[in-house]
Amino acid sequence: MQIDEIVKGVLSGSRRHLAKAITLIESRREEDFRKSLKLLDAIVPYSGNSIRIGITGTPGVGKSTFIESFGLYLIDKGYKVAVLAIDPSSQKTGGSILGDKTRMEELSRHEMAFIRPSASGKTLGGVARKTRESMIACEAAGYNAILVETVGVGQSEVAVADMVDVFTLLLLPNSGDELQGIKRGVMELSDIILVNKAEDDNLDKAKLAKSQIENALMMLSQRDDGWNVPVILTSGLKKFGFDDYFASLVEFFDLMRKNDFFQKKRQSQYLSWMWSMVDDYIKEKIHSDKHMKEIIDNCQEKIVLKEASPFSVAEILIDNLKNIFE
Ligand code: GDP
Repeated sequence: MQIDEIVKGVLSGSRRHLAKAITLIESRREEDFRKSLKLLDAIVPYSGNSIRIGITGTPGVGKSTFIESFGLYLIDKGYKVAVLAIDPSSQKTGGSILGDKTRMEELSRHEMAFIRPSASGKTLGGVARKTRESMIACEAAGYNAILVETVGVGQSEVAVADMVDVFTLLLLPNSGDELQGIKRGVMELSDIILVNKAEDDNLDKAKLAKSQIENALMMLSQRDDGWNVPVILTSGLKKFGFDDYFASLVEFFDLMRKNDFFQKKRQSQYLSWMWSMVDDYIKEKIHSDKHMKEIIDNCQEKIVLKEASPFSVAEILIDNLKNIFE
């Protein structure tokens, strides 16, 4: 299929063409990479008109159940919903987080939804880049609520927070214990916290967890954007707490638009995307160069054997870069 045809199809909202566009974005072939840049240039002007929501939480917290139900809730409200994922383990498994077809069955069948499993790639940076680009393609195809899911391990939360407008952390009702294990950094990234599975017998525990989390939040420093992180009780299974969550999202976007943080955040994200692409490109170039590989091995050995400092060795590597980029 020609690029023009894919662009036209995507802009007309065709899911088939959107899937093609994303396949092109995810391809590792050099030729496809060039094509995907052309494609992205053509569709970027039509992107951006969406709410980008990041969702994280440990495996088993109920993310996919929640996203399926809340996705359908958003569709009821008139949104077109796309679900993307960043899965650090996909580097090994080739994309597992949404790979299981039984997940989000109802949502995936809905004509107002588009679900794409995590891209695979050698590095988290690479996977994140493909997800960002897929997000742009989804927006150009008219999807105006983008949910980006990640498992709460490793650096993937940071990668997701760097591509969304609002970041949601799901916790379990027994959070008192769980909070000990939650990295402070993840709490700091979170704009909204949900205590999920908060139905029936879990309700009392969930209320207790909510106040514990609120206390923990008070220990964090004041945010520049003036937002107070709400803690909301939800149940993806019983479709409970969705109105509260949605109201918080609306309130968050209202505040961010009023205080200009929305635009500023997107602008700084776009700059950081550009630099991460440049960084990745440079690293890839360095590591795929045979001559450079010898120099790198040699330099690394010098550091390990303490024959040279990391600083002087970095200089040697930098001096050799001109051979690659000439
Ligand atoms: P994920 O690993 O975070 O995506 O979690 P899943 O959505 O796959 O859910 C993990 C398990 O928790 C499954 O057995 C679900 O049926 C169950 N579960 C999901 N959401 C809820 C909920 O709101 N309440 C209860 N009680 N169980 C849930």
